Amino acid sequence: MSRAVIIGAGPAGALLSIYLARQGYETVVYERRADLRQSRVEGGRSINLALATRGIVPLIDVGALEQVDAITIPMRGRMIHSPDESEPVMQPYGNHVHEVIHSVSRSELNAILLDLAEQTDGVQLEFNRQLADVDLDGRRIHFADGGTSDFDLLVGADGAGSVVRTALAEAGSCRHRTEWLDHDYKELTLPSRPDGSHQLDPHALHIWPRGDLMVIALANPAGDFTVTLFAPRTTFAELTPDTVSDYFSDHFPDLARLIPDLGQQFADNPTGALGTLWADGWSHKDRAVLVGDAAHAIVPFHGQGMNAAMESVRALDRQLRAHPGDVETALHQFEAERKPNTDAIAQMALDNYLEMRSGVVDPNYLAKRNLALELEQRHPERIRPRYNMVMFSTMPYAEAQARAAQLNELLDTALNNPDADLDMLVEAIAALPPEDPLMDPNALSLA
Ligand SMILES: Cc1cc2nc3c(=O)[nH]c(=O)nc-3n(C[C@H](O)[C@H](O)[C@H](O)COP(=O)(O)OP(=O)(O)OC[C@H]3O[C@@H](n4cnc5c(N)ncnc54)[C@H](O)[C@@H]3O)c2cc1C
Repeated sequence: MSRAVIIGAGPAGALLSIYLARQGYETVVYERRADLRQSRVEGGRSINLALATRGIVPLIDVGALEQVDAITIPMRGRMIHSPDESEPVMQPYGNHVHEVIHSVSRSELNAILLDLAEQTDGVQLEFNRQLADVDLDGRRIHFADGGTSDFDLLVGADGAGSVVRTALAEAGSCRHRTEWLDHDYKELTLPSRPDGSHQLDPHALHIWPRGDLMVIALANPAGDFTVTLFAPRTTFAELTPDTVSDYFSDHFPDLARLIPDLGQQFADNPTGALGTLWADGWSHKDRAVLVGDAAHAIVPFHGQGMNAAMESVRALDRQLRAHPGDVETALHQFEAERKPNTDAIAQMALDNYLEMRSGVVDPNYLAKRNLALELEQRHPERIRPRYNMVMFSTMPYAEAQARAAQLNELLDTALNNPDADLDMLVEAIAALPPEDPLMDPNALSLA
């Protein structure tokens, strides 16, 4: 029996352990942090993210959907808050009732996957084990605590700062660079009302678009919201716990009133950097491979980093099964399949920052978006808006990107030429590909 060693028990590592054990690997996951299931602090900050179809399909695969369903909140569209404090405006994500994304606590989702991994025959989890060094020739890893472990297959699911990736680069297999944004982020909490209810509509992704900066908020089941401020680094450099309340009152007045302890939270919570990892050479011979953020970390503006990581895990499982006894080919094929697609989502995530912080209130953008939704209704076999192809389908990202460029050209033509024959233009677009058979539009309940 082959021994697979996975570094990192985040969403990618925990999920992959289940797939690999089901293939017959003796699987060990080493995680540098303590077991998050034992260190959950009551009343602590709850950080959430958006789960969409590409993350849901693997959850169906491993039988985790029902449990995850119980901890999600569906978001049906973007709720746009303007600076003049007029009534917020809802922009639904799509024409169909299943076109919703799901707010979910990162740690709760991770905990469900860890429980499931632990219950899977052939999976062993070890916490407080930090990888320090990799001997690729000797197929052995070294931990910071001095211990070692041997492997047949080593998987780096150790996130954007991957130590396994560094080892692959030192061996000459991997080339990588991180392109940092000059915008940073800070997560804050908007508390629930005293009776535990939400202060804003929980079934929307709230956005305060302000050109060069923006705030978003996603609901948590406990009644609070995770609020994230994205702003130029220079803005963060100028803000202090004493000035942040005035700053919020100027730019996001409705929100400022709902977070009484802004200054304290601003002082307590870290500021994070945002970057895109461009890496190629994700594997080394027949023995080591990167997956998830370790291979393709992206900026969070399309809500796809974890979704893409989980989709990659599923692709790696499929390639290993497709090449029994030839791991080296499987690892090559995995990168050949995924790299064009993860490059595409990396670029679309960067593009989406502009769309979120200014596009959503631009009349030209809104005209295009409405026309795209109208065309989808008239030609559902050919037309899907870009956001919907990315979030609510399993179409390869690169195809979604190419189709979106084609659609964008069509929309420009249509908006500039009121006499254009739209139906004829649509005929030039190829029919949409069939969906992943596992994709069930009603997979997560909308309750
Ligand atoms: C502000 C923000 C918002 C986001 N919002 C979304 C969203 O809405 N939707 C979405 O899909 N994605 C979102 N993401 C991205 C998402 O968080 C990541 O893509 C996802 O967590 C990647 O999973 P992973 O398992 O590959 O890596 P990680 O989650 O980073 O997990 C890596 C694990 O490896 C462990 N590790 C690291 N080094 C070592 C070592 N040397 N030894 C042992 N263990 C190690 C770490 O402790 C960690 O547990 C967001 C990210 C940010 C920053």
